[in-house]
Amino acid sequence: MARAIVNAQVWDGADIVRRGCIVIEGQTVSAVVDSPPPGASCLDAEGRLAIPGLINAHGHAYSSLARGLAIPGYAPRSFGQILEQLWWRLDRALDPASVYASAVVAAMDAARCGVTTVLDHHASPSCIAGSLDLVRRAFCDDVGLRASVAYEVSDRDGQAKALDGIEENLRALAAPADGLARAHMGLHAAFTLSDETLARVAARIPDGAGIHIHVAEGPEDEEQSLERHGMRVIERLDQFGLLRPPSILAHVLHLDEKEKDRVAERGVAVVHNPRSNMNNAVGTFDLDGYLRRSVVTGLGTDGLGANLLTELFTAGLLQKHARHDSLAAGFGDLAKLLFVNNPKIVERAFGVRCGRIAPGCAADIAILDYAAPTPLDGSTILGHLLFGVAAHALRVSDLLVAGRDVIRNGAFVGVDEKAELAKAREQAAELWKRVSKGGGR
Ligand SMILES: [Zn+2]
Repeated sequence: MARAIVNAQVWDGADIVRRGCIVIEGQTVSAVVDSPPPGASCLDAEGRLAIPGLINAHGHAYSSLARGLAIPGYAPRSFGQILEQLWWRLDRALDPASVYASAVVAAMDAARCGVTTVLDHHASPSCIAGSLDLVRRAFCDDVGLRASVAYEVSDRDGQAKALDGIEENLRALAAPADGLARAHMGLHAAFTLSDETLARVAARIPDGAGIHIHVAEGPEDEEQSLERHGMRVIERLDQFGLLRPPSILAHVLHLDEKEKDRVAERGVAVVHNPRSNMNNAVGTFDLDGYLRRSVVTGLGTDGLGANLLTELFTAGLLQKHARHDSLAAGFGDLAKLLFVNNPKIVERAFGVRCGRIAPGCAADIAILDYAAPTPLDGSTILGHLLFGVAAHALRVSDLLVAGRDVIRNGAFVGVDEKAELAKAREQAAELWKRVSKGGGR
């Protein structure tokens, strides 16, 4: 039996907003029409705004329980010190229960922000084996989102853990790709990866799989690559044959022009994370440079929040501010990041058409409780999403992924939100104790 979302203002994800009814058959939108087909099971949107589910192209669920964490003596003076003093202390202290709690919190936060797909990048060096199953279970089985999982392979804790990380990715990549979960071969960053480990990854990554890696987030990545390997990061990754779709390079802040050309030639996607970059004071993304080269340039949160609309709003502000140009990063460019390229990244990795509410596209839909104070149509929708929804209040009344309810009438369908948050607070308190002791489990 078909389902129908009736009485909605439907934005198709491109240039049309129309009052109507979204018809869903199975996991897919079959039509957008005036009235529901006979016998359809109807969800009444009561005039609310239906938009394509949002996509987070680079996230870190493992950072969810860092909210409020204070680390004695924390005083980083570089990006490398931020990793050493905060994130690597936190991830070493994660155990299976806190990995799951972090992931379920991240998945619920994402859903509350209208996000239907997350490309996650996970690290828990004290419990690598099985960790991606926990992340996948939280995101896909329990909350009901699409997620690509990846374990951050790194030599920072020695070769044995790098090998464990590769195995964990291979296990996830070998899982059947028929549900909501997919996987990338996760790599932390070139500066924590030896040539030996990259060669192993290159030898074992399955055909058709891509890497998900931080590239030149801080200047250290390029500096150390030149110093230790006599070449820049992109050339080094390319030597191992790892720059191929559906690979994802997060940040790419310190690439030179030749490296950007190479990224474009190889057809890999890059992901901009403006709020994280500003928070870490690591540099300004060359939005024009990547878009001019037609690089698939997406948007992520890097674990700093889950709200992709405020992330997009910030991407615009950052370009205008940094370039002293109020016309920089116009709506057209911003829309490409979240509503054109993020769906492309998901289509490559998941094999589903998404990012549109249109026949044949995945029924990944967010319904926003938003009352427009000015005319709302295809030409004004970006203004409403950024200066209305992002800047004022984002309230998701209903969320569907692959035609199934994740949030119905403001409440989660698959998980008990209050109970999960209570468990997460307990896990966080224990995790923080382990972090302050400075060790792993
Ligand atoms: Zn990241």
